[in-house]
Amino acid sequence: MAILGSGSGGNAVFLEAAGTRVLVDAGFSCRELEARLAALGVDPAELDAVLLSHEHSDHARGVERFARRFGCAVAATPSTLDCLGLRPGGGLRVRPFENGGSFRLGKWRVVGVPVPHDAADPAAFRMETPEGSVGYALDLGHAPQAVCRLLAGCRAIIVESNHDLTMLEEGPYPRELKQRLRGPRGHLSNGEAAAFISEVATRETRSLVLAHLSRTNNRADLAMLEAHRALGRLSSEIRMTVAEQGPGAHWIEA
Ligand SMILES: [Zn+2]
Ligand SMILES: [Zn+2]
Repeated sequence: MAILGSGSGGNAVFLEAAGTRVLVDAGFSCRELEARLAALGVDPAELDAVLLSHEHSDHARGVERFARRFGCAVAATPSTLDCLGLRPGGGLRVRPFENGGSFRLGKWRVVGVPVPHDAADPAAFRMETPEGSVGYALDLGHAPQAVCRLLAGCRAIIVESNHDLTMLEEGPYPRELKQRLRGPRGHLSNGEAAAFISEVATRETRSLVLAHLSRTNNRADLAMLEAHRALGRLSSEIRMTVAEQGPGAHWIEA
C-alpha cells in the first residue's frame, strides 16, 4: 500500500493485493492523483475501483473526473453517490454498497460499517484480501464497538489520529470549529486513536498508519508517542508510519 497523502488537504490511499488495485478515497484533483500515482509507478488505467468513505471534498475531490478518465468504478454508499451527484452513464461506472454489509471488489471482500461523522453515510472499511486484511477508518468522532470489531486483527490498519487535545484547546481555531472537531461526530484525537488501536491491534497486525493529522493541532511525534504507549508490548512488532499530506508517497509493505 502507499499513502498518496492524508490530512484535511486531501486523502487517498493506493492498495494492491492479489492482483486487485484500489484507490481508497480520492481527495486530490484528478491531475494531482495522476501525478502521485505516477511517482509510485502506478498506471491509473489499471485501477479496478475507487472506494469512497464519504463525500467530503478532502476524500472525494477528484473522484468523478478520475473515474471517468480512467474507466474505474466508483464504490460508495447510495447516499455518498447521491451527495456527489454520481450516477452511472457517460462512461461512469458506479458500485453502490449498503453500509453495514459486504461486497466483492475484484478478488477482495470489502466490509463497510457506518462511522459517527458529520457526513451523509460515512463508512470505515475492512478489505479482506487473499494476502491479509486492511482496515481503514478516517474521519470519525469516536470509535463505536462495531468499528472496533471491524478492524480487529487486521494485518494493516490505517486510522485517523487527528489532533492533540491540548494543542487544539490552545490553538487558533474558532470555538465552534474546536467543538466540531472534538465532538462525537468530528475527528479522533491522538488519545482516542490510541485507545482504539489498543483494542484492534493484535499479533496479526504488521503495519499501523496514523493518518489525517491536523497540521495546526497535531505533531507526528505526539501522535506516535500515544500510539506506542497504547500498543505496549506489541509496539516493537508493528511498523508504525505517520501519513503525510504532501507528495512523496512511499510503499508500505503490509
Ligand atoms: Zn470528513
Ligand atoms: Zn477528512
